[in-house]
Amino acid sequence: MVARVIPVDPFDLVIFGGTGDLARRKILPGLFRRYRSGQMPDGSRIIGAARSDLDGAGYRKMIADAIAEFGGDEAGDQDCLSKFLTCLDYVPIDAKGTGGWSELAQLVRKDVVQAFYFSVAPSLFGDLAERLHTNGIASANSRIVVEKPFGRDLESARALNRTLATHFDESQIYRIDHYLGKETVQNLMAVRFGNVLFEPLWNNHYVDHIQITVAETVSVAGRGAYYDRSGAMRDMVQNHLMQLLCLIAMEPPSQFGADAVRDEKLKVIRALQPVDAHHIVRGQYDAGPDGKSYREDAENPRSFTESFIAMKCHIANWRWADVPFYLRTGKRLKARSSEITVVFKDLGHSIFEGDEARHRNILSIRLQPNEGMDLQVTIKEPGPGGMRLIDVPLDMTFADALGDKEVEVADAYERLIMDVIRGNQTLFMRGDEVEAAWRWTDPLIEGWEARNDVPKLYDAGSAGPEDAMMLMHRDNRRWRDIKA
Ligand code: NAD
Repeated sequence: MVARVIPVDPFDLVIFGGTGDLARRKILPGLFRRYRSGQMPDGSRIIGAARSDLDGAGYRKMIADAIAEFGGDEAGDQDCLSKFLTCLDYVPIDAKGTGGWSELAQLVRKDVVQAFYFSVAPSLFGDLAERLHTNGIASANSRIVVEKPFGRDLESARALNRTLATHFDESQIYRIDHYLGKETVQNLMAVRFGNVLFEPLWNNHYVDHIQITVAETVSVAGRGAYYDRSGAMRDMVQNHLMQLLCLIAMEPPSQFGADAVRDEKLKVIRALQPVDAHHIVRGQYDAGPDGKSYREDAENPRSFTESFIAMKCHIANWRWADVPFYLRTGKRLKARSSEITVVFKDLGHSIFEGDEARHRNILSIRLQPNEGMDLQVTIKEPGPGGMRLIDVPLDMTFADALGDKEVEVADAYERLIMDVIRGNQTLFMRGDEVEAAWRWTDPLIEGWEARNDVPKLYDAGSAGPEDAMMLMHRDNRRWRDIKA
């Protein structure tokens, strides 16, 4: 099934940092796929703006190479690629100086949608925002897209928000969290709010607990300097896991609109309880046969930064009172796998005896790999031999459920960029959400820093430190296996 393409208006998209890693690996290959599927209207243009001294031809060559490397199967469509490249232009620019700004001002049109992607270090956001105005480039219709990290604590996030607010209205600011662009994450809202089946059960009467796991196999090698100042809490929990938690726990918004959805997410973050130190496990990967230790990768032999974190949280409201949310994320784990799991309670009374009475419904929502969902239900084992029960998954993996026809699942970045062009902020974080997330996170980080907490070592290729298993075992529960 080829996805229905929702048309957008012609646009000018300026990518500050257009020669950087993110632009080459994600943004431009994503835009090419959108172009190929007919979603980029004629007359739209993409303008790279970065420090490198390139001309338009040099930039087009750079992006053609990037698409060949990161563009997947579609990159082989040379005809389409040549046409796409004609939409590209480039301006060498100095975010902190004057160079390039008048050239950019001449290129960007006033009569089309204008979007400015800040794919640069956050320290440059203020300079870019200011120069877009002083050079008469931005207008009330412009949109800006900003990348993570959005601050490293509440204070810095507030300062960033203030800086952006000096030049742009909140309705013009798109804070990107690419987890929100994933097909499954949006499907989570469709499943919750588009079916009568789930919502009545989505509360502390029927849900035993919820697990959110984002497991990665990669190390921090190559970005150790950044990561060592951040750690798993700042790099993953404050943003990605928090956003997933919000979507799974929020009240139904009155409509599927940007502010209605974000208001409900904000209420979840505000209802998050402080987490007891005993309910947090920090880990750091050790050296293994096929890799160095975290400290070697981070080039900091005395680092106490966590490359893994597991924690038990509670949301203080009527719906979720006494339902633990277990969050877990880490690097160099046994598989790359992201999953949200809703484990429902035991039956109040079972008419079956012994082991047959011990079956539970489990809804698992997989973000990667194999985006999809399955619901574990209990049925009778077929055949003779009495009433034996087994658990089987009702599989809602998209590729299977939608048949063997082509299913076009857009990458998170391409989907989100198109939402910017459409002016739809639903899947972007609002400033107050980001600040509320830091308000919850900061005391936890300050707590372990004050205690000089030393992360527990774990074997690379494992499921994390033993203490993370104990966090669950103590509650008579267990983590889902991390598997690809
Ligand atoms: P990068 O270092 O690869 O690229 C930085 C870009 O900024 C380059 O194009 C460079 O020319 C430009 N630049 C730097 N200083 C400039 C200046 N003074 N004036 C004009 N341009 C300047 O960085 P990246 O990995 O592409 O990351 C960009 C942003 O996206 C960062 O904020 C990063 O945290 C965020 N991010 C990156 C990734 C990723 O996978 N790379 C993922 C999530 C978020």
